Amino acid sequence: MKVLVKNAALFDGENEALRHDCSLLVEDGVITKIYQYEAVLEDVDQTIDAAGYTVIPGLIDAHTHIALSDSFDKIDLMTQEEVAVRSTVIAKEMLERGFTSVRDVGSNCYGLKQSIDNGFVPGPRIYPSYAGISQTCGHADYRQNRAQRSNFNRGIEDSSFMRQGHLILADGVPECLKRTRDQIFKGASQIKVFGGGGASSLFDPLDTIQYTRDELRAIVETVTNYGSYVCSHIHAQPAMKIAIEEGVKSLEHATFMDDEVASMCLDNDVWVVPQYATAELIANRMIPLGSEILYQKTERVGKGLLKQAELVDKYGLKCAFGTDLVGTPEVHAKQNMEFSARKKYFGSFRGIKQATSDTGELLKMSGLLDPYPEAKLGVLCPGAFADMLFVKGNPVADLDILANPDNIKVVMKGGAVFKDIRE
Ligand SMILES: [Zn+2]
Repeated sequence: MKVLVKNAALFDGENEALRHDCSLLVEDGVITKIYQYEAVLEDVDQTIDAAGYTVIPGLIDAHTHIALSDSFDKIDLMTQEEVAVRSTVIAKEMLERGFTSVRDVGSNCYGLKQSIDNGFVPGPRIYPSYAGISQTCGHADYRQNRAQRSNFNRGIEDSSFMRQGHLILADGVPECLKRTRDQIFKGASQIKVFGGGGASSLFDPLDTIQYTRDELRAIVETVTNYGSYVCSHIHAQPAMKIAIEEGVKSLEHATFMDDEVASMCLDNDVWVVPQYATAELIANRMIPLGSEILYQKTERVGKGLLKQAELVDKYGLKCAFGTDLVGTPEVHAKQNMEFSARKKYFGSFRGIKQATSDTGELLKMSGLLDPYPEAKLGVLCPGAFADMLFVKGNPVADLDILANPDNIKVVMKGGAVFKDIRE
């Protein structure tokens, strides 16, 4: 199947200047040639005219929970089938918002991913972590209340939510090894651990350090031996130091960073994956959490992120785009608001680069476990997946344009058009 996209004003994901009047030849889902003029090719199956639009790489979100379509307590009451069916709605709408690839950092999206990759349902490419790995009493010990926790002796997955495979508990080196290998066996492209306290959990203080060095080291060694990397949920400064020293390569949230941690990130090629808009939305009570404790924790995170953004900027840290939305389709619909936050902190060009080529580079760190090794992500060049968007206006000059998904007129993934709302 050959597709020609012509008359493109092209943002390639890396260079700020647009290239005008480009034609992109797509063969079997991959870009094979870019002509710097209007190419006239006879033997193509489909020609798509991009005149009047900026063509940009498909967006990438490095911190999703794509199979979580409601709050944790509500999912706890659902059957696995209900969770799976609902996740297809989240995935379809995510693709329509322009996200052609996502990294999932904790949700059982196994069936969803197979169904998307087989063409049964529309959705982004998924780099799955499957069950996020947490210590008992850690951030992802989501047994919903102390009563469930008191039933611990009956088994470590003693809540429907955890039995569904979104999160898993592991304590001690042997269990950490087993749970890590279980996720790799399932097809995880990287492993997600919870290395410190969190804002969306009731019982663990934000400042806690979770997992001992021995446990963390065992997980990192296992994943590194398989050619991939570990990402860790972390807010507290001391937990970040330990994570970097033990070989974690992607710090999720990385909220209470200081100069010391920032320079450690720089020296060790460690990525940070903050979510600026989500913290703002929660602080403004625009995402329901159901507990005042959780709002207070998140407000503290929001304040910490202000300083963190300054450090990311000052040290020029590798910073990926991520949103961390958990909830109904209405909650997930706020995904693109992160673009306005990134514009505020980093400017439009750096913000869009974070959501395209930068996050593409992070996802490719899955190495031997990369589920889509055939082509490049987050860029538009020969040898890249034909994942591209036609946007009304130039988001490289004004990133607020991407905050409104209605400005994304065409979504193409792997050379196939999944959304076309051009007038
Ligand atoms: Zn998360």
